[in-house]
Amino acid sequence: MRRMQTIVFVIFFMMIPVISGADNAVARHEIQVRIDPEQHSLTGEARITMPPGQARSIRTGGVTVTSVSVLGAAFTTDAKTGTITINAGSGPRVANIAFEVLYAPARASGREEGIEQANVVEPDGIALTGSWYPAVEGLSGYRLTALLPPGFEGISEADEVLVKERPDGSREFSFVFDHPVDGISLIAGKYRVRTVRHEGIDIVTYFFPEEEELVETYLDYTKKYLDMYSRLISPYPFKRFAVVENILPTGYSMPTFTLLGRDVVKLPFIVETSLGHEILHQWFGNSVYADHATGNWAEGLTTYLADHQYEEMKAGGWEYRKQILLSYRNYIVPENDVSLKDFVSRSDRATAAVGYGKTAMVFHMLKQEIGTDIFTRALREFFVKNRFARASWSDIQKACEDASGSDLGWFFKQWVEGRGALDFQIRDAMVRYEGSNARIFFDVKQEERKDRFLLPVVLRTDKEEIRKIFRVEKESASFEIETREHPLELIVDRDYDLFRTLSDDEAIPVISAILGDKDRFFVIPRGKEQEYAGLSGFLTTSGFAEKKEEAVTYDDIKNSSLLVPGDTDLIRRLFGQVALPEGDFSLVTRFSPYSNKNCIGIIRSASVAGMQAYLQRITHYGKYTTLVFRDGRNITKSTDTGERGIGMPLSEDVHGVSVPHLEPLSRIIEAVSGKDIIYAGEYHDQFDNHRVQLQVIRELYRKNKRLAIGMEMFQKPFQAVLDEYIAGTIDEKTFLKRSEYYKRWAFDYNLYREILLFARENRIPVIALNIRKEIVTKVSKGGLLALSEEDLKEVPGDMDLSDTEYQERLRESYAAHANPEGRNFDFFYQSQVLWDESMAHNLNEFMTKNPGHQVVVLAGGGHMSFGSGIPKRAYRLNRREYAVLLNAEDVEKGIADYVLFPSPVPFKETPKLGVQLKDDRGVVTITMVSPDSAAEKAGLRADDAIISLDSEKMAAVEDVKIHLFYRKKGDVVSVKVKRKRFLFGDREMEVKVML
Ligand SMILES: [Zn+2]
Repeated sequence: MRRMQTIVFVIFFMMIPVISGADNAVARHEIQVRIDPEQHSLTGEARITMPPGQARSIRTGGVTVTSVSVLGAAFTTDAKTGTITINAGSGPRVANIAFEVLYAPARASGREEGIEQANVVEPDGIALTGSWYPAVEGLSGYRLTALLPPGFEGISEADEVLVKERPDGSREFSFVFDHPVDGISLIAGKYRVRTVRHEGIDIVTYFFPEEEELVETYLDYTKKYLDMYSRLISPYPFKRFAVVENILPTGYSMPTFTLLGRDVVKLPFIVETSLGHEILHQWFGNSVYADHATGNWAEGLTTYLADHQYEEMKAGGWEYRKQILLSYRNYIVPENDVSLKDFVSRSDRATAAVGYGKTAMVFHMLKQEIGTDIFTRALREFFVKNRFARASWSDIQKACEDASGSDLGWFFKQWVEGRGALDFQIRDAMVRYEGSNARIFFDVKQEERKDRFLLPVVLRTDKEEIRKIFRVEKESASFEIETREHPLELIVDRDYDLFRTLSDDEAIPVISAILGDKDRFFVIPRGKEQEYAGLSGFLTTSGFAEKKEEAVTYDDIKNSSLLVPGDTDLIRRLFGQVALPEGDFSLVTRFSPYSNKNCIGIIRSASVAGMQAYLQRITHYGKYTTLVFRDGRNITKSTDTGERGIGMPLSEDVHGVSVPHLEPLSRIIEAVSGKDIIYAGEYHDQFDNHRVQLQVIRELYRKNKRLAIGMEMFQKPFQAVLDEYIAGTIDEKTFLKRSEYYKRWAFDYNLYREILLFARENRIPVIALNIRKEIVTKVSKGGLLALSEEDLKEVPGDMDLSDTEYQERLRESYAAHANPEGRNFDFFYQSQVLWDESMAHNLNEFMTKNPGHQVVVLAGGGHMSFGSGIPKRAYRLNRREYAVLLNAEDVEKGIADYVLFPSPVPFKETPKLGVQLKDDRGVVTITMVSPDSAAEKAGLRADDAIISLDSEKMAAVEDVKIHLFYRKKGDVVSVKVKRKRFLFGDREMEVKVML
């Protein structure tokens, strides 16, 4: 069978006319092939004519050479594959090489899984784009003739395609292409062919019958792009352009055609972006060839003038550029960064972030540097001068220098040879008024680099925007802008014209931040190892390490990126109840609560089994924050917004309140009386604050008997004691002892006594809102993840740590306080959120069990201001209306519904002995006696152990506090102590202390 084919092949071969007309300085290839798709086989002969005087190497690539002759004489070579070297001679050297290839059936080798294969010969299609014939290296002439079975249409690089039908129905395709090129491809399939003529160019579509309805759209867009770039750069360099569907999932551009995968052409956005990109490659890449040895500029230039340009035309150019900066931030670390001169082609997202993204930004900055008109002129000259030749960055530099008349050596050195991105800071932005003018000053500082660049700045005033561009020439520079208006804000690089490091405020949580993190984990939900076992293969190949939910540490959350199923305690205790969009698979990306360099992807999937297919696809959606898929299709994709540009506020908006509108507390209580929850904040030690709270409670109770009081001062395990006290079944002293009031709350009970007496008299329920103090302390020392399973039983199941403004306010107050042990702020923050969340949850629990009750919440103002501590968390849980009243706070926008200004009220505080005490295994010991105190006057000393007060035995410090609570100033207390005496043994003594 095989021999038979060879005979046919020889006859076919003799009928081929010898081509002429190619350049004498380059090698010429005349290649004839015959393809049998059923057998996955190709047989052919290459006749290679090499210019005189040069020794040449012929690479045989992936083919099997069956015979070689040079100038008609048999040429013996041991190598059947690899390289054949032909010596130099005085005349042209002509080599004839017969070859054959048997391709592996593609279906057996994983084409279905999307594995990229350069060459396939299949009954349903032929795609030969890799090394598939013998050829000399470098730009050469080609003339290809292919004999294909009946029904097949052939495509290759061609200005013209000649077709001859043979008696058996097979057809011979000859491709006329008279330009030097690095290599050629051959594509064939049972296509429907459609040709239209447009502006002297044949536009041809080769689509499979199933996709025929797409033809009109592709023709329309192709015309549009050919027109667009013919006008922008220069007339289309060929006579023919074909859009060819491929059985492989490709997106290639070859001279005179683009090869788009079958699944690719069906995607609706391809005509809007990729098609234009591939068509623009006809100018840059396919007629001016990129010199890869000195850096491939063609992808970045094409991205800039295609993908980016299409967004720019829709006014979204700045967003596109910001995405480039985000990709660079997320995928590039110093170890994988390369300079543009070293970029050859994309092999992963990191190389794409540089070769496509950064390069596009460099062209953008080049355009800013020399101006749009000169930039366009330079591009045209560059194209015309280098058509059908290799061109390098220095050819681009030369064209730009010729067009602009300026020396751009520094620019290309900085951007093509150098690595990294601009990294500068804006410092000391300030305003000075001089006469009618405001002068705005600011400094630009580069810490590590000394780049030169044009800095675009917008000054926003109350009336207008002033735009300026400043030239930064060295590591630091000072600038100023003048205005007669009221300056509000300076915004640096608002449109992302610079390839620079993004500031933290500009960053956005996107999927690429997870995919680009070298420490990325997939979290296996607690107890579901079996269910998720099927994912492990995918996770390994995509670079995710597996981590059990219970093994996730604070460090993982702060310093790595995580993909986590949303239905886990881990997510519920980081972000509260995350509303994941409905779908078969959805993914929402959030910053880690402890760092906005790391992201957490929260997943919801209809089934674990279905998850893998979707996870595989998220790599194509790196720039999005939120994704939703249904029935295998993406139905939602969106990106959060961050700050636009580097903003520097110059003046805060000043706010004021109208003094005539100050209202009496009674009117304010009236105004909030319809709310379900009234938060009444306090400074714990200010008695007047508590009088305000009492007034709020009394007046609300007058209107509504179904009132309850929530108190921060009591901890949940003591709810039953509170209930007994309110019910009147225990007395106050018992209550103070059993609620451990003095062990758990540091402030004088007299501050709260009036409120609790009112509650007791009227049987108003009091809710112990707080969590057990020991747990909060543990978290502030070791973080939430240090809690034991036992502790976690008392911790709310969902907590939201993502209120960054609250975090910032706490950070400021944390920094303002001395921090001797160098504690971890994040742990402190977690303890505060735990505290707030516990109060919100306990409040919600009461309101759920007691529907119809209105609640007044008493807690420190810090747990209420701006709604951050308890109010918004309770609202997250129950959506109940609330009002916040704060005492003695600065009036700031959003801080509360009302800020009250109570005057000091006389307060009878509990008298003091003037000692510091500690509990020491059932013994109350004096640790310090205050100078001039009642205790000192009575002769008490440090180290004395207090046995009794007024004959009442003291077993704990709280006993002393409770005892004194029932004494008043001027009372005499009899204190019995045990004093240690050196050599003489302990002595008991009794002293009288006048309070
Ligand atoms: Zn491209």
